[in-house]
Amino acid sequence: MSRHRIVVIGSGPGGSAIAALMAHAGHDVTLVERNAFPGGKCSSLPRDGFVVDTGVHMFGRGPVGPFGTISRILGEGPTWLASTPSFTLSLPGGRLEMASSILHPISILNFMKGHARGWQRMGWTSTASRALGALGPRGLFSLARRFNHPRYPLYAELQDVSVRDFMTTLSGSEDFLRTFHAQAMLTMVLPWHRASMGEFAYILASTMQASRLCYPCGGSGAVPASFLRALRRKRGIIRLDCEVSRIETKEGRVRGVTSSKGEFLPADVVISSAGLRRTVELAGRDAFPRDYLEVADGLRDSEAFVAVKFFLERKVSSMRTPCLLHMPGLSPHAMFDYLEDGGVPSDLFLFVTAPGNWDPSLVPPGGDCLIVGVPAPSSLGRQDQARSLLDLAQELARGIFPEIDKAATAVEMVLTGDISRLSGRAGGDCIGAAQEVGQSGSRRPTPATPIGGLFLVGADAGGRGIGTEMAADSALRLYFRLKDGFLRPRGAGDPCDRG
Ligand SMILES: Cc1cc2nc3c(=O)[nH]c(=O)nc-3n(C[C@H](O)[C@H](O)[C@H](O)COP(=O)(O)OP(=O)(O)OC[C@H]3O[C@@H](n4cnc5c(N)ncnc54)[C@H](O)[C@@H]3O)c2cc1C
Repeated sequence: MSRHRIVVIGSGPGGSAIAALMAHAGHDVTLVERNAFPGGKCSSLPRDGFVVDTGVHMFGRGPVGPFGTISRILGEGPTWLASTPSFTLSLPGGRLEMASSILHPISILNFMKGHARGWQRMGWTSTASRALGALGPRGLFSLARRFNHPRYPLYAELQDVSVRDFMTTLSGSEDFLRTFHAQAMLTMVLPWHRASMGEFAYILASTMQASRLCYPCGGSGAVPASFLRALRRKRGIIRLDCEVSRIETKEGRVRGVTSSKGEFLPADVVISSAGLRRTVELAGRDAFPRDYLEVADGLRDSEAFVAVKFFLERKVSSMRTPCLLHMPGLSPHAMFDYLEDGGVPSDLFLFVTAPGNWDPSLVPPGGDCLIVGVPAPSSLGRQDQARSLLDLAQELARGIFPEIDKAATAVEMVLTGDISRLSGRAGGDCIGAAQEVGQSGSRRPTPATPIGGLFLVGADAGGRGIGTEMAADSALRLYFRLKDGFLRPRGAGDPCDRG
């Protein structure tokens, strides 16, 4: 196998994974990262005795998903933590503690409790009869069978159907619809009329099959850190504080990259996790055909989660699970209208995490940290609205956890501008290219670009699943593709030549 010089741009879950995998395959890899620390939106930074995640707070499948596959190939990976019960549903009437699988006895008992007390009526009977009416017995049986199929056939079939259109065909129950609308927002950071049902079906089925919610020991940053350890072990080079300002090409092939300090790093292959649009800018628009530029310009990003972080000198005893989902007392049809109309509703969907409940070493002895996330528009032009949403989120959190008022030593807001500075992207989007109707499944941009030797990895290219797992899945797919390509002699059959 010939050795190639590979430059990887970015050290988030996508970049760190592909860099380690390509070094493992025997290539000379240099990873360049514009931030002074590794991990991108999946990093954790020390702060006055706390270790604080910059973005990510929950990993769907942990060792069972693409992170596990990558770790097994590399022989290196994070230690995964899981807890049961794993999250709390905070409903207008009361709270229910749930296990990661809805079939776990704890979840079933609490679903029954919520129903009996009238806190959450999922309308299973009316939903079943509506679904039966819409699909017929054979259609319903086939849907249930294919939903649980290990190869997820619904993924392709439903890629162009929105979550809203699919769910409202099945059910008229407000609580049922609110639950799934909130789930789509939590996992794809999109309102349900944009979110692709194919992608959502994959996320629901794969997390149900994995039956766990995970978090890495040491914080989110432990995931890219473990891949970077594997990269170093294979003599890969990591350059922090090194921003790529230009991807150099000649006659339709990549030649290397130039840093913002003017240093040229030669390469046979460049793999970019800077996002499709930014990668096109870095290589120069002239280098791409017009139809490719149209795709790049038309790509829509996901929305954002902004957050308020409470640093506390005492434990929040009422937060008994690592995560809490606060369901707003609003119609499922209107609960995220504010993302488009620019307003601030009377109640919000909140995703609250207490990382110290996963891993106590992340908070000082006796202390705690609560991170309250709220969906917000990703556009940097709408930060005033995001700030107002965070003011309300803060007020709601103080109502849910009255003890934080006395225990908070510091309160910090994370806005979309902070996220954009972290990722280097133009907006504060959480995920990257939105998993929405028209750009998910087979319509998602592929890792290959029209420039020979230039590839994309991470949030914008290939891959499927929830945030970090989609970025890792994208790296895994590219690894298998390039690995096979490199093993063939150079020429027409080599994907590096074809781009
Ligand atoms: C607030 C928030 C909460 C989230 N919560 C979750 C969660 O709970 N679970 C989950 O699975 N996902 C979550 N996500 C999403 C997850 O963080 C992303 O899906 C994931 O990090 C994408 O990985 P990536 O490698 O594609 O990109 P990134 O993590 O964005 O990494 C890209 C890297 O490239 C670097 N870069 C860009 N341009 C250049 C350049 N020119 N030169 C050098 N380096 C460059 C950037 O600095 C960055 O480090 C969350 C995101 C946010 C913002």
